[in-house]
Amino acid sequence: MTQTNWVIVVHGGAGAMRSMGAEKEAEYRLGLAEAARAGAAVLARSESAIDAATAAVAAMEASGVFNAGHGSCLTLDGEIEVDAAVMDGRDLSYGAIAGVPGLSNAVELAEGIRTGSPHCLFAGSKALQLAATLPGFTAIEARPSAERVRKWESHRRNNPVAPSLADQLTALGGTHDEGDTVGAVALDGEGNLAAAVSTGGIWLKQPGRVGDSPLAGSGLWAENDCVACAATGTGEFIMRVALAADIRSRVQAGSTASHAAKDALAALRERFGSDRAGVIALGHDGEIAAPFDTAGMGRAWMRSGDAEPTVRVWPEEDQ
Ligand code: ASP
Repeated sequence: MTQTNWVIVVHGGAGAMRSMGAEKEAEYRLGLAEAARAGAAVLARSESAIDAATAAVAAMEASGVFNAGHGSCLTLDGEIEVDAAVMDGRDLSYGAIAGVPGLSNAVELAEGIRTGSPHCLFAGSKALQLAATLPGFTAIEARPSAERVRKWESHRRNNPVAPSLADQLTALGGTHDEGDTVGAVALDGEGNLAAAVSTGGIWLKQPGRVGDSPLAGSGLWAENDCVACAATGTGEFIMRVALAADIRSRVQAGSTASHAAKDALAALRERFGSDRAGVIALGHDGEIAAPFDTAGMGRAWMRSGDAEPTVRVWPEEDQ
């Protein structure tokens, strides 16, 4: 049966973001709304869920507002190293990159790998060599903004040596300072599901560190007639419970997308404590879920027929 209803859901990261200030919050909300609109425009043209999820994430990478693309946080060495992934629920095709230096349009490279390579995941600067061979793909360089460099200098002053994860979580505030990783899930008019994720990782990560974001089953999953989801938060916890795979199993066992997402997050919390993660999930029936156990998580969605996206950051906005 062909269905005509489509849905796009995006997130701008889960984290300890209460201190972001009114100006940054306004920018952040605008970035979320624009990303939802970018994905919605693709779906309204009857294009695929994977194109919509990729377009929404690409919009957030280009904005410089989020921890992805131009806005990526910096490693201990003050560099940008990005992770990204896409997954198409039609055939479980998946493309990803990990620890790629100085790349802004990471999600497009992941999509180029999904469609143009027999392999799924490329790491480090070799991924840029592959990028040069992919038809239609041009790498865009990500340079840290002055604001990011200032922030790096201040974090670095407080962390003269490589912080342990525990120190990092305490010093940088619960999960990490700004959980502005980005992700999107989409359901197109044909009933196909897709997911896309892009991130600079976590502040002061050791060079070469890779989080959950590019890992199918941890940072994302998309499977038609089941669920699409994209995680955010501290990768060192998310990947150890395979959060996206857990949500998928719960849906396969009969849970709705929202129960599955909530229960999988509760299982993570039980094992590793709270203030760790958030996730967006989209059921094959169009059900939207966006649970998180951090102070905030930017989230926005649009359904066919909506004039404007719904945008939320704080938990109390769900009441
Ligand atoms: N999950 C990402 C990572 O650990 C960070 C985030 O979502 O904010 O690299």
